[in-house]
Amino acid sequence: MKLIDGKAVAAKVEHETRARIDSLKSRGITPGLAVVLIGEDPASQAYVRNKDRTCASLGMHSRKFELPATATQEEVLILVAELNADPAIHGILVQSPPPKHIDEHAVTLAIDPRKDVDGFHPINVAKLAMEDPTAFVPCTPLGCQRLLMEAGVETSGAEVVVVGRSLIVGKPMALLLMAKGSGGDATVTIAHSRTKNLSTVTRRADIVIAAIGRPKALGAEHIRDGAVVIDVGINRIEDPSTKSGYRLVGDVDFEAVAPKCSAITPVPGGVGPMTIAMLMANTVTACERLTA
Ligand code: NAP
Repeated sequence: MKLIDGKAVAAKVEHETRARIDSLKSRGITPGLAVVLIGEDPASQAYVRNKDRTCASLGMHSRKFELPATATQEEVLILVAELNADPAIHGILVQSPPPKHIDEHAVTLAIDPRKDVDGFHPINVAKLAMEDPTAFVPCTPLGCQRLLMEAGVETSGAEVVVVGRSLIVGKPMALLLMAKGSGGDATVTIAHSRTKNLSTVTRRADIVIAAIGRPKALGAEHIRDGAVVIDVGINRIEDPSTKSGYRLVGDVDFEAVAPKCSAITPVPGGVGPMTIAMLMANTVTACERLTA
């Protein structure tokens, strides 16, 4: 069984990104990312801190906007409009999920698609579906695809089952893997909470991508011998033996599944680091295009 090291692949992606940043800087341009956080959700605060830190370590310009949970829809839209017009900002990300009174879809629509480094704007979703190379692709599935490619996993002709149909992970993951060309050309099935006999479906797969949001939802019975497993899940479960009182586990029961796999990602240290690395790469791409 091969452990797919997300930290190592993320470091490789960041190395490539750094070279592109250096080239932009030689033209007097610094890529800039704006991250907007509404409310005080601790997990979201941690993600935003991480993004800020990675920007700084790569020498990128980053601005963090922390709005109170009481911020109005209009205030958020005004901020997005300012960031759309700000020439120092090339990527805009509004941390999900916002408080319930905020219409997230309207906020996504307000972001300039050329600065939509999360790839959630309908223009970018459509471009991905149309296999237009100028699409911004959501960072997590993009990171999963890169992990498969770096691990030498052949996707062409492979049976892939993606468990989860969200706009953030499952759907774009399926679109990427079924697209023509390198890292694609797979035969893709999407499963979800209404799928009957999930284990029968997932056991057909050469590659299983788990994006479910339920701790250890996939066990040994879901995976056939020799399959490749990419675990997108990040779930906090109680663990009194740790200082924080909790630990992170994936959507896959790693201990039960790993011995059967030809390759698997751990949690933490698998998909997580790739998401941030791809966000940085997307921001540099936005900067290159906006300043070309
Ligand atoms: P989500 O929007 O809640 O979607 C979960 C999907 O799983 C839904 O399509 C749901 O089906 C399906 N599902 C739920 N229970 C199921 C079951 N018992 N059997 C089969 N399918 C089931 O979640 P998400 O945003 O895609 O995130 C998924 C996981 O990835 C979460 O753990 C999240 O924390 C993690 N994540 C990690 C990263 C990272 O950087 N590593 C980034 C994003 C998300 P229905 O559509 O029928 O409800």
